[in-house]
Amino acid sequence: MHELAHVIRPSSLHRILACPGGVAMAKNSTTAAEGKYATIGTKQHEQAAEILRSGSPERPPELRHYLDYVHQAAENGEVFIEEPVPVSAFCGESGAETGTPDAAILGEDFIEIIDRKMPFGHPVTAERNPQLAAYALGLYQQAWADPLYDPEFFLTILQGESQDTWRLDLDELLEFAESTRERVAQAAEISSPSPGDLIPGKSQCRYCPASAHCPALRAATEISEMETPPAEFTAEALAEALSKIPLMKIRIEAIESAAYARAVAGEALPGFKLVAGRGGPRKWADEAAAEAQLKAWRWKSGIIYKEVLRTPADLEKSAPPELLQERARGTGGTKGEVLVKLTSRSAGKPALVAESDPRHPYDAASFFDELVG
Ligand code: SF4
Repeated sequence: MHELAHVIRPSSLHRILACPGGVAMAKNSTTAAEGKYATIGTKQHEQAAEILRSGSPERPPELRHYLDYVHQAAENGEVFIEEPVPVSAFCGESGAETGTPDAAILGEDFIEIIDRKMPFGHPVTAERNPQLAAYALGLYQQAWADPLYDPEFFLTILQGESQDTWRLDLDELLEFAESTRERVAQAAEISSPSPGDLIPGKSQCRYCPASAHCPALRAATEISEMETPPAEFTAEALAEALSKIPLMKIRIEAIESAAYARAVAGEALPGFKLVAGRGGPRKWADEAAAEAQLKAWRWKSGIIYKEVLRTPADLEKSAPPELLQERARGTGGTKGEVLVKLTSRSAGKPALVAESDPRHPYDAASFFDELVG
């Protein structure tokens, strides 16, 4: 059983808005809200916070985009790294009292909330994102001393290499807080969810602590022709099964998480056992000390360091645009055009996606043309 304050928190607001019955389901769940991705995410957040707080120049590849963005944004205001802010304006009195944005910038006329999401999985958008909005209003309320302070708000999500920002003013933020708080309060009132209160979906079910025992998720993953071999499915049954795969994967993850949690707690699962996992990759405990030691031994720089050629995509980001626009002597073109000719790319294989996908339908003739050059 979980306390309501544990269930209603900024990171679960989107799930509550999408599936109001999930509050009661999560409250009565005995499983932890964090899955394996959340655990990886927490470790990376801690690492990023440590680097930013210490001012270390370290840039692990998976954190580089986020760290660079925060550094740049921090030039325009006061930066807060993983500082708790009040969130009851969004979560209500029965929800969590505080939430912790990854990074926040308090400027003279703006507040920016920066949240790093794990690159894999469901893309998260900034627009009407209640988690970031709760942090933004919380920081505003905490920092607000001057009644004339009327900042603009920037809610930024960094996921992988992409950035998405929602820009809004105080009135819009307050309006969003009020409507969210009302819906959260209604969801918190539900003690026995009816089928209409439980609305399965990829983004809400993925990290839901009730996913291992939710009847709505189970029903949404049932296939009508389960007894028939897939190769003999009708086209309609295949399409139906395909559309259910994203939720099936969530259910499979829920089974894995439940099994792992019970095995770690000491329960024997017939045919399975726990073994020690592989340790992480070796790394220097103190990079500066290791470098100094190698130099003191006068080892050649070719042994100590390695230079690697950047990939075309990486070079495109690192090279200043004016360099790519320069004329390349003897070619009649720019240096960028010469580099394009030196680049190759294998043709993408056809992928089966939902009809709503914005890409053009696959054309077998042009795919063959690309293959033969
Ligand atoms: S598993 Fe999905 S449908 Fe069930 S309670 Fe959670 S979010 Fe709602």
